Amino acid sequence: MGPGELMGVFREDLLAGRVAFVTGGATGIGNGIAHALGRHGAKVAIASRKRENLEHAAAALDAAGIECWFDTCDIREPEQVERVVAGIVEQFGAIDILVNNAAGNFPAPMRKISYNGFRAIVGIDLLGTYNVSKAVFEAWMKDHGGGVVNISAPFEGMGVALQSHVAAAKAGVDSLTRTCAVEWGPLGIRVNAIAPGEIAQTEGVARFGDAVAGSTGGNNPLGFAGATEDIANVVLFLVSDAARFVSGQVFCVDGASGVDAFKMKVEPPSED
Ligand code: NAP
Repeated sequence: MGPGELMGVFREDLLAGRVAFVTGGATGIGNGIAHALGRHGAKVAIASRKRENLEHAAAALDAAGIECWFDTCDIREPEQVERVVAGIVEQFGAIDILVNNAAGNFPAPMRKISYNGFRAIVGIDLLGTYNVSKAVFEAWMKDHGGGVVNISAPFEGMGVALQSHVAAAKAGVDSLTRTCAVEWGPLGIRVNAIAPGEIAQTEGVARFGDAVAGSTGGNNPLGFAGATEDIANVVLFLVSDAARFVSGQVFCVDGASGVDAFKMKVEPPSED
C-alpha cells in the first residue's frame, strides 16, 4: 500500500467540528498531519517562524478545502505563543487538538555543538513544547478537555551519536508527555507522543544525509521508510474517541527499527 492510499482508513467526518493546532505545520511531518486532520473534518491552525512557508502551506490547505488559519511564532517565546493561541481561539472558538510538532535539529558531535546551538535545540524541542502546551491548556483545554500529541524521536533509553541535544530534549518531551497525562487526565485531556522513525522526503532525514551509515531507504525490519501519512494516521487514532482510554504513552512508529537490537540481515523464508 503506497502513501497516497493510506488516507482512506478513517471515517471522513472523524474530527468534524474540532479545531486543531499543529506547530511547524507548514512543512514535513507537521504539514502531513495538518492535511490529515483537515481532511477528517477539523479546522486547522498552523504556526512557525517563516511567513512564506506558512502562506504557501495555507494556500495548499485551502485548495484542499480545509479551513485554515496561520500566524508566525517562535515557540521559544512564551508571549508569541500566547498571542497565537489567543488568535486561534478568537478565530475558531476552540483548540481541541494540539500537535507539538515543531523542532530543530542538526547533526554534530557533542563536543562540537556550541552552548548556543545546544540551548537552541532544547529551547525549541523541549521548552517550545512546554510553552505551547501550557498556553493551550490555560486558554482552552483546562475548561474543555482535549487531545495533545507530542512528536518526539525514537531515542529513549539509547545513546545517539550526533544527537546529544535532540535526544536530551526529546527525552524531556517524553517525560512531559507522561506528567501532563497524569496532571491533566482528570480534566479530560489525553496526552501522548509519537516517536517517528525514518520518514521519507522530510527535512529531518535530508539533514542527516550521509551521517547515518545505511540508515536511509528503509533500514528496518519492515523494509521501507515511513511516509508522513504513517505518522498522521497514528495522530488521527490518538486524537479520536477510539483512543479515549489511551494517555501518557510514547508510540514508536518506526517499522520496528528501535527494537531491532543487532540489525542483522534476516533471510526471507525459503520454499523448502
Ligand atoms: P521540518 O520540516 O524541519 O519541521 C520542523 C518545523 O518546525 C518547521 O516547519 C519549522 O518552521 C518549525 N520550527 C522550527 N523551529 C521553530 C521555532 N523556534 N518556532 C516555531 N516553529 C519552529 O522537520 P520534520 O522532519 O518534518 O520533523 C517534524 C517533527 O518530527 C520534529 O519534531 C522532529 O524532531 C520529528 N522527527 C522527524 C523524523 C524524520 O524522519 N523526519 C524522525 C524523528 C522525529 P519554521 O522554520 O518556519 O520555524
